[in-house]
Amino acid sequence: MPVETSAPVRRDPKAIEAAVGALAARFGNRLVTSQAVRQQHGNTVTWIENQPPDAVVFPQSTEDVQEIVRICAAHRVPIIPFGTGTSLEGHVNAPQGGVSIDVRDMNQVLAVHAEDLDCVIQPGITRKALNEYLRDQGVFFPIDPGADASLGGMAATRCSGTNAVRYGTMKDNVLSLKVVMANGELMTTARRAKKSSAGYDLTRMMVGSEGTLGVITELTLKLSGIPEAISGGTCPFPSVEACCNATIMTIQSGIPVARIELLDALQVRAVNLYSKLALRETPMLFLEFHGTEGSVAEQSERFGEIAEEFGGGPFEWTVRPEERTKLWEARHNAAFSTFTLRPGSSMIPTDVCVPISRLAECVTETQRDIAESDLIAPIVGHVGDGNFHLTLLVDMQNPDEIKVAKAFNERLVERALAMDGTCTGEHGVGQGKMKYLLAEHGAPALEAMRAIKRALDPQGIMNPGKIFALS
Ligand SMILES: Cc1cc2nc3c(=O)[nH]c(=O)nc-3n(C[C@H](O)[C@H](O)[C@H](O)COP(=O)(O)OP(=O)(O)OC[C@H]3O[C@@H](n4cnc5c(N)ncnc54)[C@H](O)[C@@H]3O)c2cc1C
Repeated sequence: MPVETSAPVRRDPKAIEAAVGALAARFGNRLVTSQAVRQQHGNTVTWIENQPPDAVVFPQSTEDVQEIVRICAAHRVPIIPFGTGTSLEGHVNAPQGGVSIDVRDMNQVLAVHAEDLDCVIQPGITRKALNEYLRDQGVFFPIDPGADASLGGMAATRCSGTNAVRYGTMKDNVLSLKVVMANGELMTTARRAKKSSAGYDLTRMMVGSEGTLGVITELTLKLSGIPEAISGGTCPFPSVEACCNATIMTIQSGIPVARIELLDALQVRAVNLYSKLALRETPMLFLEFHGTEGSVAEQSERFGEIAEEFGGGPFEWTVRPEERTKLWEARHNAAFSTFTLRPGSSMIPTDVCVPISRLAECVTETQRDIAESDLIAPIVGHVGDGNFHLTLLVDMQNPDEIKVAKAFNERLVERALAMDGTCTGEHGVGQGKMKYLLAEHGAPALEAMRAIKRALDPQGIMNPGKIFALS
């Protein structure tokens, strides 16, 4: 399959051989060149082909990362930072070859300041491991992209997920970063203070930079208190439009919903088949409310009334943790459940985000397009943020089908942009969405991004061929 990138491929085998030799001499068996490990580090869950790095190195400290970067910089060899490889748009591919820096062994919690509601961690710890560590202290890290991703990767993709409607995205929850820059120097982006007006916001510049500006080796994160009570449940609706309108009304009414997730009827069918549930196969919202026992009951009841106004309900909710966990596990497995709809197919995930007032229109038009294109593509959405995802189930051996799916994806992005939305609400650009950045941002903004890239990475070695082409 052709690669969806306009970046020129400049591979220098001699330089790569020299850098890999120097790294092997320094890092011994923490430098791996086996084909299986290299392929796993070029993981891609889309129509973009696997482009493995030439070697994978496993640092154990910031100093290790600095040394690796200096060796690669001396030979002008590409560096691809790697967390857990769950990104969805070819982010960790190595189109020019190079060295993947897998930070899995840098997985320590360095400090928890429960009284300040923050913690300092290494980038390789995953969100589940972090929350396991924090649980006894009454605090948690709320960003949940479904996959058990690394916190470094989550910051680098500016990810979000089901809790974002209440707790924000990674951009709202990273206080400071330590970053090894392209010349091997270590930059600290901010102090631990909750707010600051001191100069450019380098933290936010690095959040979402997808490994193209530096390697994150330490993160200071905001934490939240574990709520005293949580209620959650499901609510069926007659149409996707009714789901969206009930969501808008819930947000406008100031109900502090923690999660509000749309599943279209096809996705509910897949969830039923995969997770052995018996939900009504109609458009549905999964919801969760956080607060005190009294407030979650009140919020749940108020939502039930709003649902009724839009022909939905009944809203069946519970505060029992085991029942809620079963539901949210089913929601988290939504992507994998789609295989039950077309066994043997491949899953092509994509996401867009629009202002919430345009959500119903965007989802409804997209559903019409799916039907007209003869595609199987269930929809899930973090609808409280105007963000929805599709899983296109495609036969990758059938070029005609791939063509139809790609054309559909283009129309999806055009539709979102026409509604003042974005080509990706949370998955990021990687290689797959590079071609939409000009239409989304315009030439001056894209040129400003290029200027930052050139200034901070003059040799172009940090994860090249991602986000935008340099020429
Ligand atoms: C089933 C499934 C469901 C998903 N659902 C969601 C969802 O609901 N919301 C959502 O936002 N995402 C979702 N994702 C996508 C994915 O989990 C996120 O993009 C996640 O943030 C990637 O983290 P990672 O550790 O796997 O990063 P990787 O895939 O390893 O890397 C991603 C990018 O970050 C860079 N990077 C990694 N570590 C560092 C570092 N230390 N320093 C600098 N750059 C680094 C890499 O170079 C790459 O460009 C889903 C993925 C799957 C498989």
